[in-house]
Amino acid sequence: MFKHVLLLWANPVRRLRSNSPHWRAPDQEVGGPGGGDLVSEASRLSPPGYILGAFMRQPSLFVSHGSPILALHGGAYGLGLRRFADGLAERPKAILAVSAHWQTDLPLRITTAENPGIIHDFGGFPAELYALDYPAPGDSKLAERTSLLLRTAHFEVVADPQRGLDHGVWSVLRHAFPDADIPVVQVTLPRIEPMQLAELGRALAQLRNEGVLILGTGGLIHNLRRVRWDSAGGSIEPWALEAEAWFMQRIEDRRSQELFRHRELLPLSFEAAPTTEHLDPLFVALGASDEQDSLTTVFEGFQMGNLSLCSFAWV
Ligand code: ZN
Repeated sequence: MFKHVLLLWANPVRRLRSNSPHWRAPDQEVGGPGGGDLVSEASRLSPPGYILGAFMRQPSLFVSHGSPILALHGGAYGLGLRRFADGLAERPKAILAVSAHWQTDLPLRITTAENPGIIHDFGGFPAELYALDYPAPGDSKLAERTSLLLRTAHFEVVADPQRGLDHGVWSVLRHAFPDADIPVVQVTLPRIEPMQLAELGRALAQLRNEGVLILGTGGLIHNLRRVRWDSAGGSIEPWALEAEAWFMQRIEDRRSQELFRHRELLPLSFEAAPTTEHLDPLFVALGASDEQDSLTTVFEGFQMGNLSLCSFAWV
């Protein structure tokens, strides 16, 4: 049994950059040939029974969710998520989540249960973690609307009425929206290339205008073989800081193509992400953002020497 020791350095909600003049239009960055009009076409489609009023645009949020133990003892990280949620101009009408912990091949799957429940999809943690619940309702109309947008962008989607929310989703939302009263729908993270993941995100972007917060939940630096499980504190490992800085610089500058090519361009790429399932939700959240957005830090910090908790939102 390892100890769950956190090393956190909080830098609560800080404005990274606002309306940066050199941010580039994502159409050139994340769109494939001939794919540029898909979302705007989808946005013209009528969403029957879903849009009932005008909503404020909701953020596209990426959260590095760290160890499941943070669901119990969130500390400064949990506070950062809560502050971000409390600072929203309007509560989301619903949340559409893509998580590292529900990865499938195509076609995509989407939760459709009215009460999806949660999955305690981890092992070796204290019993009280397994006693936690997050009874957020589902939203079948949002699942329908999301499926329509995704199909318009040529992603096939299959309804999954059985699946509950995984810990990548509920451990985060537990801090951000502790009342669990906002409906949550989850779509699978497909095993496809970063640029295609960004196209998936772009297909979801319209939902933000309909009051739906987009949540990508994974980890910017996530290498369980390097995590110092028994670390009682101390320094953050330089390689993790360096890799995180590489990603954050390109995220701030919207250099999407370079992010997509991290395997070629970042020598530390395999250290940062030996497998890509925790990094991949970033590309979905990025794809759901555009140059109109400002990038806002939700939390910065590391856990156990090198597990990034870096979380931010395009708002
Ligand atoms: Zn995880």
